[in-house]
Amino acid sequence: MNRFSYTRATDVSSALQAHHAPAAAFLAGGTNLVDLIKEGVARPERLVDIRRLPMKAIEPAANGGVRIGALATNSAVAYDERILSRYPLLSKAILAGASAQIRNVATVGGNMLQRTRCHYFYDTATPCNKRDPGTGCGAMNGVNRIHAILGTSEHCIAVHPSDMCVALAALDATVHVTGDQGDRAIPFDAFHRLPGDTPQKDTNLSDDEMIVAVELPAEEFVEHHAYVKVRDRASFAFALVAVALAIKLDGDRIDDVRCALGGVAHMPWRDREAEAALRGKTLTPAAVRDFASAMVRDARGRPGNAFKIELTTRAIVRAFEQASGQRLAASDEDRT
Ligand code: SF4
Repeated sequence: MNRFSYTRATDVSSALQAHHAPAAAFLAGGTNLVDLIKEGVARPERLVDIRRLPMKAIEPAANGGVRIGALATNSAVAYDERILSRYPLLSKAILAGASAQIRNVATVGGNMLQRTRCHYFYDTATPCNKRDPGTGCGAMNGVNRIHAILGTSEHCIAVHPSDMCVALAALDATVHVTGDQGDRAIPFDAFHRLPGDTPQKDTNLSDDEMIVAVELPAEEFVEHHAYVKVRDRASFAFALVAVALAIKLDGDRIDDVRCALGGVAHMPWRDREAEAALRGKTLTPAAVRDFASAMVRDARGRPGNAFKIELTTRAIVRAFEQASGQRLAASDEDRT
């Protein structure tokens, strides 16, 4: 049995102070952490309960966008009037994930910090560089159907499991954190990390920091957006491939495009070079197909997951079809 102490924080500074103890962990919704503790993957010696901190508000932000407190539940965000009317892509992505029961308790901060669902990571009888650095990677030559095709390393091929984070990456959100050195803001696509040779680190959050809020910019993509999630089950399943797409059209001209992929990398995957190449082009099947191919140009498949490369390109095409209302697949065979 893993024995731990429990502390309920009453404000941010006392939460940070309590978290200084060795092997301390913040407890919010607990929907992933409790699983990790039960499986013996996480062994915190102190749980710092932050659920009563005043970080649940969803409110107008100084930048003209919306600021979402780190302790707002996934359901509160998905059904918030401002989110539904101004950032429907985020609402759709959240509602594509987990179950209603989980979304009712899972928090925004916890969603961002959830660990990979790699089977080997949760099975303490197998090697895993993310769980126990230096032991190896069970997935590399094992069952790797759900694993990454982009940004992998020789140490880890895990994917980040969140749907919400894929939309936040596409919307260019900003993460606000606080810690011993004060407050700082992190662009969303600099928050999570690729595995490199430190796969045990999922994010660029320092050990002494906590997430306070996520801020959405003023720019909205209400008219043309899509969240496409391809998975093995119709509900309560993680993405094999997900696409969060936000575009601005002037007639058939693509004025702006933001595209983030989920289920394919250790973090939500943006490719700003591919996006820049598409801006200004006419929306045609060929342009979209070229963009989709560019998004996976560095992909590497393994025997269990090579199918994801073509699946990703088809999911991107499907997202453009949904966002634009136009038929863009070259043929019915070309559709997901
Ligand atoms: Fe562990 Fe990453 Fe390998 Fe999965 S892919 S077994 S998380 S090192």
